[in-house]
Amino acid sequence: MEGIVVKSTGSWYIVRQENGKRIDCKLKGIYRIKGLKATNPIAVGDHVDFVLSEKEKTGMITSIAPRSNYIIRRSINLSKQTHIIASNIDQAILIVTLAFPRTSTGFIDRFLITAAAYHIPVKIIFNKCDLFTGELKEHFENLQDIYIQAGYDCIVVSATKKINTEAFKNLLKDKTSLISGHSGVGKSALINAIEPSLNLKTAEISLAHLKGIHTTTFAEMHELSFGGFVIDTPGIKELGLIDFKKEEISHFFPEIFKHIHQCKFNNCLHTHEVQCAVKRAVESGEIGQSRYNSYVSILNGDDLGVEEWELK
Ligand code: GDP
Ligand code: ZN
Repeated sequence: MEGIVVKSTGSWYIVRQENGKRIDCKLKGIYRIKGLKATNPIAVGDHVDFVLSEKEKTGMITSIAPRSNYIIRRSINLSKQTHIIASNIDQAILIVTLAFPRTSTGFIDRFLITAAAYHIPVKIIFNKCDLFTGELKEHFENLQDIYIQAGYDCIVVSATKKINTEAFKNLLKDKTSLISGHSGVGKSALINAIEPSLNLKTAEISLAHLKGIHTTTFAEMHELSFGGFVIDTPGIKELGLIDFKKEEISHFFPEIFKHIHQCKFNNCLHTHEVQCAVKRAVESGEIGQSRYNSYVSILNGDDLGVEEWELK
């Protein structure tokens, strides 16, 4: 029989069968000794095969289908082990606010490239649009232009004023979505606006290097009544950051990548080189200045200041 792991407690897994029924499963011993680097052999989102026990009350997982992607968190100790948080994610929903709290472009861009490296497409949601007046409105319009130009889908909503929340709902429908963004941007408010029965504890997912406190909570997939799942990751404040090779970084900025083949040098890093098509595109406005700044900052290995990453 087949199903999806929707919750893990470390030794038991709750598997959702296609008919919606849930069954507690254990893992067949063999997987434990396979020398996997990950501390957990099975993660939320995994597609598994299982057999029913004699009494048909519980199941035994016998195999795991290959994962289309997964997100990891580094282990607490230095054993180089990783912990797989969740797998088979269709999209990450990055919720952004321009104020209360401010989400910096540096944070957004690091999130985008890290998700891209994990093979997870990102949709950008600007929340709290009821506050977009005056300068904030201008700032929003500039930002939205930059990300649309970069090829990202953007949606503008207000959770509390229920503006455009239907579009947010449509985005989640029939997909498995990771909900991300700083604490306070309205993740819970947005989910509750479209699915009041779900009382999410959505902790922040940042991509920080912060040596935050790791709690041993497990991710959980919540089913949406209109189809689809959202992944809740309580207590997880950090995704394993990817170590990018310098020449690779531009590949994860879609609008920068478009230009790199027109550079004079094929190993151009788009900083000091002459006849650089990327720098030309920044000057002509085809690439947003803030995006280029993020690119250079990541290239230089700059860490964002702690404030940029902090929870509030
Ligand atoms: P989370 O930490 O990302 O889950 O954020 P919450 O959902 O807890 O929201 C944080 C605060 O922002 C709460 O006080 C919400 O009422 C407020 N908030 C959420 N959405 C909106 C919005 O669209 N407009 C305004 N003005 N406030 C909002
Ligand atoms: Zn160049």
